[in-house]
Amino acid sequence: MIKHEFKAESKRLLEMMINSIYTQREIFLRELISNASDAIDKIYYKALTDDKLVFNQADYYVKVTADKANRTLTISDTGIGMTQEELENNLGVIAKSGSLAFKKENESKDGHNIIGQFGVGFYAAFMVADRVTVTSRALDSSEAFKWESEGADGYTIVPSEKAEVGTEIVLHIKPNTEEDNYDEFLEEYRLRSIIKKYSDFIRYPIKMDVTGQRPKEGSEGDKPEFESHVEEQTINSMVPIWRKNKNELTAEDYEQFYHEKRYGFDKPLKHIHISADGAVVYQAILYIPESTPFDYYTKEYEKGLELYSNGVLIMNKCADLLPDYFSFVKGMVDSEDLSLNISREMLQHDRQLTLIAKNIKNKIKSQLQSLLKDERDKYETFYKAFGRQLKFGVYSDFGMNKDTLQDLLLFYSSKEKKQVTLDQYVSRMPEDQKYIYYAAGDSIERIEKLPAIELVSDKGYEILYFTDDIDEFAIKTIMSYKDKQFKSVSSGDLGIESDAEKEKQEAEESGSKELFEHMQQILSGKVVKVKASKRLKSHPVCLTSEGEVSIEMEKILKAMPNNQDVQAVKVLEININHPVYQSLKEASAKDAEKLSLYTQLLYNQALLIEGLPIQDPVAFTNDICKVMV
Ligand code: ADP
Repeated sequence: MIKHEFKAESKRLLEMMINSIYTQREIFLRELISNASDAIDKIYYKALTDDKLVFNQADYYVKVTADKANRTLTISDTGIGMTQEELENNLGVIAKSGSLAFKKENESKDGHNIIGQFGVGFYAAFMVADRVTVTSRALDSSEAFKWESEGADGYTIVPSEKAEVGTEIVLHIKPNTEEDNYDEFLEEYRLRSIIKKYSDFIRYPIKMDVTGQRPKEGSEGDKPEFESHVEEQTINSMVPIWRKNKNELTAEDYEQFYHEKRYGFDKPLKHIHISADGAVVYQAILYIPESTPFDYYTKEYEKGLELYSNGVLIMNKCADLLPDYFSFVKGMVDSEDLSLNISREMLQHDRQLTLIAKNIKNKIKSQLQSLLKDERDKYETFYKAFGRQLKFGVYSDFGMNKDTLQDLLLFYSSKEKKQVTLDQYVSRMPEDQKYIYYAAGDSIERIEKLPAIELVSDKGYEILYFTDDIDEFAIKTIMSYKDKQFKSVSSGDLGIESDAEKEKQEAEESGSKELFEHMQQILSGKVVKVKASKRLKSHPVCLTSEGEVSIEMEKILKAMPNNQDVQAVKVLEININHPVYQSLKEASAKDAEKLSLYTQLLYNQALLIEGLPIQDPVAFTNDICKVMV
């Protein structure tokens, strides 16, 4: 018997695979069952196009048989089979379809995961078997051939016999080693669970002989005796939920699938069932979870959807299907337009997958919009869990996605005392209001007490409260909404005063020019300016900022691990209608030391109001005592 050599590159690949310490060995079964299912697909197609061939549904199935005594696992199918030539061509060369890409990947790294994520087809058998025998009889042929290989050193093909058309693959399961348990691949329950996990939705029955107990004949009554009996069962459910008609399914069905798949332990807030028939054909079941997974806002969280190719699971978490801002979405996609052997690199450039991803993104967006519109309570629950992620989405990638996301944002409103959308805000803006006003702070309660909000509130304008550290960054990325710019209540020009008011202010300011210059010298390096406030009513003092970085942003940037010491350009504003202003004026005329004391005190108070640390708290308390005695 002549022993054929594998082609050189195939040999290397095979060696690597056989020797890889691979944790997901179990996928070999998925690969072989998928091949079997493909072979049945082919005969089915033939039957559809060839009148001479009758396709009788019951005749087509895959059978998995474990024989513990002989340490063999057999996978047989009633598919189209292979001729001698096909055995040679198909199983003698590995560098086909996805495997070439696989090889490239592995020039540099060891690629264990790649085997798990994508099929490498038939050769996966060598991960669990030290000898593989393939006996096949092709359609329209009376003879059969047997292909056999013990791995990298080659294979043989000899004539053989087989009663039916189809293929039978016998895996001689490897003996256990200290590290590795191969026995598990001979265990009925283990095989069942592998089939359920990866091949549940294969359209043809996957049968197995299952051992059960039944009462012995004649032993019924009080003390029945039991005997084992073997019964052939179909392991897979065959019709996947995503292929079912939406009308046939209940909310419970979707919920059950969510839990069966372990997408989450919560109750999903919403499911999205897609059956697309357009440029790309696919089905998807997606879920918006109700609560934040514990690791969601950490680096450990991995986004992605399960990816099936025509009912066969090819990837657990296909990240390319979801944009980061929708990374909370769970679920699966099945498409017959995808190759089973596609590699991660190829996926990124796959036109079909790109189309699916785009389609999915739009569906999620429109579902969230309708949730917002029709089921506000639910949307608010969602927003509580994942709103932060949407805001990150607005801010990241240089604001590329702000248009997609801005209408999904909610902010707490000073008027409504609850969350509102930007659209709600803008649509009820009084005609004379130029800007969308916001105030940033640690909490609603704190913002409510900010002196800086006084003027805008008094004017009757609505203010959005930003309590999330990402809020102001996100809004600065959006810049304007429906032609209205955003304006912080702490920013220099609030755009509220009338010309007459401005004139009056300027006149008063010029009277205190010297005083403010003096105060600014006292605070040199801390504030760039001291000026009369246009926004304060009852409070004597507040801090505002000029330029891009606000005081809130400075706080947030300071708290970040790679503290970049970004400072807001600060301005100390004094309320010239407050009695304190008179005290400042008097001190300025008579007592330089007192002016310095008052200035420091007011500055530190302003810091406290903003929630910023006081540089020297001891000096501050001493200063207070000085005023008291
Ligand atoms: P792939 O399935 O990606 O082509 P495989 O290595 O799994 O790669 O299989 C190589 C080829 O061998 C298949 O394309 C198919 O033509 C043939 N083949 C494998 N298993 C079977 C089978 N059970 N019945 C018929 N043909 C098969």
